[in-house]
Amino acid sequence: MYDVKSPKAEEFINNEEVLATLAYADENKDNIELIDAILEKAKLKKGLTHREASVLLACDNEEKNQQIYQMAQQIKKDFYGNRIVMFAPLYLSNYCINGCVYCPYHMKNKHIARKKLTQEEIVREVTALQDMGHKRLALEAGEDPVNNPIEYILECIDTIYSIKHKNGAIRRVNVNIAATTVENYKKLKDAGIGTYILFQETYHKESYEALHPTGPKHNYAYHTEAMDRAMQGGIDDVGLGVLFGLERYRYEFAALLMHAEHLEAAFGVGPHTISVPRIKHADDIDPSVFDNGINDDIFAKLVACTRISVPYTGIIVSTRESQACREKVLPMGVSQVSGASRTSVGGYCEPEKEDEVSEQFDVSDKRTLDEVVKWLMDLGHIPSFCTACYREGRTGDRFMSLCKTGQIQNCCHPNALMTLKEYLEDYASPETKALGEAMIAAEIGNIPKEKVQQIVIENLNNIANGQRDFRL
Ligand code: SF4
Ligand code: SF4
Repeated sequence: MYDVKSPKAEEFINNEEVLATLAYADENKDNIELIDAILEKAKLKKGLTHREASVLLACDNEEKNQQIYQMAQQIKKDFYGNRIVMFAPLYLSNYCINGCVYCPYHMKNKHIARKKLTQEEIVREVTALQDMGHKRLALEAGEDPVNNPIEYILECIDTIYSIKHKNGAIRRVNVNIAATTVENYKKLKDAGIGTYILFQETYHKESYEALHPTGPKHNYAYHTEAMDRAMQGGIDDVGLGVLFGLERYRYEFAALLMHAEHLEAAFGVGPHTISVPRIKHADDIDPSVFDNGINDDIFAKLVACTRISVPYTGIIVSTRESQACREKVLPMGVSQVSGASRTSVGGYCEPEKEDEVSEQFDVSDKRTLDEVVKWLMDLGHIPSFCTACYREGRTGDRFMSLCKTGQIQNCCHPNALMTLKEYLEDYASPETKALGEAMIAAEIGNIPKEKVQQIVIENLNNIANGQRDFRL
């Protein structure tokens, strides 16, 4: 039985409810009256239910689809302005005891180079990331209690936060590691992590079990209930995501929203972010063997429908996507992108040798961070290196209430300008710097409160004079 508040995976992601939702969406995909009513509700910017959102996703009426895209763009503008937050992944270890059939780190892959960063190597990797200008990382590690125990992850987090190279600092460490216990989530919380990210891969239980034939990840319920345990462990910013291509995208979309509704109903806090990765080529993985791949148009529609359905949840698009595809979906509601990512263990310091490949997937967007920053500004977006909220204790329901009322914008916009200024001073090429200075000068006037404007102007001067780390 479907029960949004239930602690049991198969009750809050109830297969019958997902199937009934898809049938309802099919029945109503041409029901213009209903679609108009759903779009009217979306205008209130309080989100949609999984059933309503699924009708919009199924709709193939061109005129209505244009309205959906416009609505997504409007909501993106209202909640996130023209800002895009930057981050980079950091692969700590690709040792893994699971058998995920879509990932080259699966245990049976005997020819991929297995690597695990030592603390000295982490210092080198993080120094390289700081030298690019990154302030926010997402840690990635395979599941392996012997090679990557929680103590190792905690030690890595400590090391990362302690590295201060020139004006660099990693100010927010998000963590993407395997589903674990409440006790371990408490330890991650105490280590000062930002968001705990765990991709569901697929919500379809039967497919999930087939795609994860061996290892602890095979346990659907344990994996699906991980965010509940993370919340119980005190982590109130959690990041959801599915790997599009493994299952039918409409099934995943409905279930993803049901997961968001569950977190909101059970803990009073919806997901902090939703990632939308698509399956990509990697070492021994050929994406064409998976039947449910989605094209760029469907991908854009998914992003737009997600934006409308959960306006207060950040949407993350990584360098799995090409520059062209990222350009297409940015205005539809994306709030965070990665830049200059390496998906190999140790890849920031040394390019991989051909006979020692350790990448998790092929990166499509291979540009440098400076190129990505310049490109965003050319398109009218403000690249932001802001990490203020978690450091100011604005997490969980406190963060969500500021988000839902739109008040968070009073912080996001000034923080974007101040952190961009730091980037321009410390890392930008002359061309990017000139463009950025012009953008900051133009955007200061868009800070509504005069007092805040004055503070920002003062802080920008302080940054030019060598001081760092201002935030609201
Ligand atoms: S997806 Fe994660 S758990 Fe699965 S094989 Fe890859 S690293 Fe291991
Ligand atoms: S102020 Fe908070 S929500 Fe806004 S960009 Fe910074 S960390 Fe994100």
